[in-house]
Amino acid sequence: MLNTLFRPRSIAVMGASNNTFSIGNRVVKNLLAHEFKGRIYPINLKEPEILGLRAYPSILDVPEPVDIGMIAVKSTLVPQMVEDCGKKGVKFVIIHTAGFREMGGEGAKLEDQLLENAKKYGVRVYGPNCQGIMNSDPEVSVYANFTFTPMRPGRASILAQSGGVAELLNLNLRKMGSGFRMYASQGNASDVSTNELLDFMGNDPETRTIIMHIESMKDTPEFIECCRRIGRDKALLAIRTGRTTAAAKAVSSHTGSMMQEDSLTDTIFEHAGVMRFDTTEEMISAAYAFASQPVPAGPNVAIVANAGGPGIMAIDECVGNGLKLAKLSEETKARLRAGLIPEAYVENPIDVAATARAEHFALTLSCLEDDPGVDSILITMVTPPFVDCEAVGRAIAETAAKLTKPLVCVVMTNENWASTVETIKGAGIPVFDFPEAGSRVVAAMARYAEIRKHLAEQPAGAPGNKAKAQKILAGAPGEFISQTAAFDVLSGYEIPVARTVKLSGERLPRGLKYPVVLKVDSEAVVHKSDVGGVALNLARPAALKKVHAEMAAHFPGADFVVQEQCAQGTEIIVGLKREPGVGAVIMFGMGGIHVEAMKDVSFRMAPLSQEGAARMIRGIRSLPLLQGFRGIPPADIAAIQRLLISVSQMAVDLPEIVEMDLNPVIVYPEGQGLKVVDVRIRKQQQAQQIQAQSV
Ligand code: ADP
Ligand code: MG
Repeated sequence: MLNTLFRPRSIAVMGASNNTFSIGNRVVKNLLAHEFKGRIYPINLKEPEILGLRAYPSILDVPEPVDIGMIAVKSTLVPQMVEDCGKKGVKFVIIHTAGFREMGGEGAKLEDQLLENAKKYGVRVYGPNCQGIMNSDPEVSVYANFTFTPMRPGRASILAQSGGVAELLNLNLRKMGSGFRMYASQGNASDVSTNELLDFMGNDPETRTIIMHIESMKDTPEFIECCRRIGRDKALLAIRTGRTTAAAKAVSSHTGSMMQEDSLTDTIFEHAGVMRFDTTEEMISAAYAFASQPVPAGPNVAIVANAGGPGIMAIDECVGNGLKLAKLSEETKARLRAGLIPEAYVENPIDVAATARAEHFALTLSCLEDDPGVDSILITMVTPPFVDCEAVGRAIAETAAKLTKPLVCVVMTNENWASTVETIKGAGIPVFDFPEAGSRVVAAMARYAEIRKHLAEQPAGAPGNKAKAQKILAGAPGEFISQTAAFDVLSGYEIPVARTVKLSGERLPRGLKYPVVLKVDSEAVVHKSDVGGVALNLARPAALKKVHAEMAAHFPGADFVVQEQCAQGTEIIVGLKREPGVGAVIMFGMGGIHVEAMKDVSFRMAPLSQEGAARMIRGIRSLPLLQGFRGIPPADIAAIQRLLISVSQMAVDLPEIVEMDLNPVIVYPEGQGLKVVDVRIRKQQQAQQIQAQSV
């Protein structure tokens, strides 16, 4: 439990100093400047007084109990300081000092040593190589951190491994006019983990949203579980550096840990319900809104403008980011027509006209609040010099206090109307300079409303003969199981497959009719058709015999399978991959050149919900090809959805499957199902089994 870390009653600062340009000085100053509600004990061997406070030569000389020991001494002295803290009964040490695991070699050894000392006494370690924590709760008001941006209470909490990024987030949140609730920059996170911090912030009732910066993920399944729990009532926003290979390399040297591939991160965040942002600015803007505004019920936005052009820019940006323009009710339109000036335009976007006064804005907001077709409101306004804009600002602020729907404002003005902007911001309404920025924030809020729904979805189950599948897998000799065995596993999960039988002798196995397909079945052959290992449309026994003889000569000692020749349809691909340390990821895409050339695939983590599977199908760019196009009838999308759910069930039931490719699956027109014609299953080797069990 991290309660003491964020609500300490007393803090000792080891390395406290009167030298202005030292961390030990800055830390004490910050605690004093923010009026920490507990006691502060500077520790310094020589100085009797630091910044007006009585100092002690050792923490062991402090006459009262100490909750937190902040350590800013040189790295080689840190293990001893931790030992002293242990003897004193300190609960947490915050180690600012750098030069540990991030440096490798000696640094890593030093880190192990300090951790060992901490463990001996049950002291929890925060850091090392970290900035610290803050809690703006006025009851505590603790700024246990060496950084410089002042603390202003707010309802967004900040969690960022890197001190520089944490500062960037705080700084800009502040510039926008907001503040934060809790702040944690954990550096090496050698003991107190990111997941623990996240969980703690998630349990804080005053935190409405959490802004995260993640460099490397540890305990991903736990992270996902934690996020899914928190995400039901708090929006989780993340920016993740290391999108390019060059950046990924820099990250690993920064924190000494590896990171996942970028697309895998997207998949993890999607499953965890975390909203990922491309830029810090967009993330901070959204956080600013989440911290004060309610979550919209849906995607329908109403735009209110007093100048036409910016309102239209807002439409583009809103719709482009997934919002819908709310359809105003007849009642709303009638009320607006009666109350607004004659030049006003009462369709969405509502143009109240440049001469609109305070009462017109107030009326418009009230009407939109009452209109059930409106989920969120975006005002884009200029400050016409011929209107009492101060009064407009007050009217917006006062009416907003009665709204149950989120309101975001864009005020396009200059410093002469600074107080108008302040009036609006003062009511907790996020204000932005650009119509695009405001629109994207509303879109982000609607996206979170969607995520909340997704998090409530139940994993879908599918029938499957688990015992039979396990037996087949266990019985298979190599790493890749034979095609007939793989098709048997699929059949056990009621997945429609092309009838496939091992060829023995020259006669067609029973139950198969011409035309047939002959394929080589060998662990060594991955892409059969590339090397002449697939012969389609063999219409007669003579053809089968001839091709078989040729292939047998080409692949000496290999097995062969005969398969029913399936009718043509749309080819798709479905894959399953167990990512080490993460979990099972399911892939879906169009078959053939689409997947290879266009990388047009979507990924989701298992287990899938019905809705999740449907979204996965909708997630590819070539979706129109499945929906029917120029004479091609719509494909059986429901059958694809059932297939994805069955694969998800296999992922849950059969951890011994490390990788599976159904490539291709031939999909027929609506109502006519699909058939898997090629499957490749890789199963776990002994060593991997152990790894999977720990995931
Ligand atoms: P590989 O992927 O190893 O090259 P496949 O078994 O996928 O081999 O066969 C290659 C292609 O042949 C498939 O993508 C599909 O278009 C076609 N094909 C394979 N089996 C059948 C079948 N039973 N009926 C119809 N077409 C098939
Ligand atoms: Mg294939």
